[in-house]
Amino acid sequence: LPPCRQRKAGSQEEDLFMRVFSAMMDHESNKFSPIPTTEENFREVDYFSGNQNEPLPDAGDGMILNYGGFVRMIRAAGHEVYAGPAYGAQPSGPLVRADYERMRAHILAHLRKATPVDAVMLYLHGAQLAYGYDDCEGDLLGCIREVVGPEVVISALLDLHGNLTDAMLQHSDILIACKEYPHTDYAMRTADLIRLTAKAVAGEFKPIMKRQYIPMIGTFHTSEEPLRGLVDRVLEMELGEDLSVSFMHGFQWSDTGNVGCNALVVADERATQVSALASEMADAFESAGKAVAAPFWVSIDEAIDAARSVDRGPVIIADIADNAGGGAPGDSTFILQALIERGVENAAFGMIWDPIAVEIATKAGAGAIFPMRIGGKIGKMSGMPIDAEVEVLSVKKCMTGFMTHPDDDCAAVRIGGVDVVLNSVRTQVFAPAPFEALGIDVSSKKIVVVKSSQHFYAAFAPLASRIIYCDSPGSLSSDYSMLPFENLRRPMWPLDVDA
Ligand SMILES: [Zn+2]
Repeated sequence: LPPCRQRKAGSQEEDLFMRVFSAMMDHESNKFSPIPTTEENFREVDYFSGNQNEPLPDAGDGMILNYGGFVRMIRAAGHEVYAGPAYGAQPSGPLVRADYERMRAHILAHLRKATPVDAVMLYLHGAQLAYGYDDCEGDLLGCIREVVGPEVVISALLDLHGNLTDAMLQHSDILIACKEYPHTDYAMRTADLIRLTAKAVAGEFKPIMKRQYIPMIGTFHTSEEPLRGLVDRVLEMELGEDLSVSFMHGFQWSDTGNVGCNALVVADERATQVSALASEMADAFESAGKAVAAPFWVSIDEAIDAARSVDRGPVIIADIADNAGGGAPGDSTFILQALIERGVENAAFGMIWDPIAVEIATKAGAGAIFPMRIGGKIGKMSGMPIDAEVEVLSVKKCMTGFMTHPDDDCAAVRIGGVDVVLNSVRTQVFAPAPFEALGIDVSSKKIVVVKSSQHFYAAFAPLASRIIYCDSPGSLSSDYSMLPFENLRRPMWPLDVDA
């Protein structure tokens, strides 16, 4: 008998007590990123060794639940948790094979120590790759199933940008993805996961999972109708029911045969019409997704023309294809080159990831004027480096505030009419803080270029006169016909009309 049954003392509450092993493996891997991911990259963000005497990691941006928060929620629901290792890193290329295997081994070693358990609850992504593994989540879940056997309930929280695979479904009992993009509902989905897992452990709920694949790729903001209405409809449908419906948007830049969207339904095995519900939800998501994914971004020249024609600044131009938050290097120069060539005045540009340029600027100090080479170093999709005479405006360990890094050495340099922020710890722009810390007042600028896809929006929208999503070339380009896909299933919307 599982331990929960042995502990059962009659009351309803204690019926639902479970002993849980938890772990986190969270990485969105972009096959077009030229930066391989190592264990060291996880240490920079969210890292817990599994040592029960150490505090749980508490870093995070306040929007997406961190591992400490995940474990505390399970404990607050009255369950006992052995908190196993946690690894979360900034999106980048696939993991170095030996590092993935070492982290997986750590998780399994702690799991063996923790057994017997009633449930394994994982915090995963769904689009993690390592060299030699095109489905790290499916692989990890399979290894965990081998350790705990068929009776223990295995459940996991996913990012909706995961690519759902057969192995993930085969080796787990309950998978629940966040429903919102931006991901504002991690805590709510964790609550769903805890409730359904506890009921499954107690035998009150026998989960089955049905999914329907949709051959579609794109970026689908859930704030936009008709997708907003569909997500609300699902939330209402789940109320008071032992039911979970996830729409997995997929992560096309993983370039595996699993890329695409999925509707996933978790329901009780006694429920009827579960497959029908999955296919109804897939149809609804396909039509809502196609409606909101209509391309609304513009070329570099169009973006600069539009920004110059506005009377009042700042116009925010989002460099969506070079977003470090999606695995891009963050050192592409396409837009900066165009700003310089076109003689644009009163502009700010951030942030170019170039630790060497930062070091040179720091040694030269504020006020120094000299020729410098900036950006365009990491790969083909970074473009060419910029060689220009720069004036160093300021240098600082400056990244305080929202999703920034305390060790990030930064510099601001002026090239013609453009103030450029350079940084040394790769990250996207979430807020004006990095500009302000270096003395650049973004609200007084005519044009501000930020390397980010969407997470910049909340902090910049209130001060912007206009926001333009610019599709420059890059590792996260939304012009899918330009990406060197090798493994994508075809036909696939919107690349093939017959998808
Ligand atoms: Zn995501």
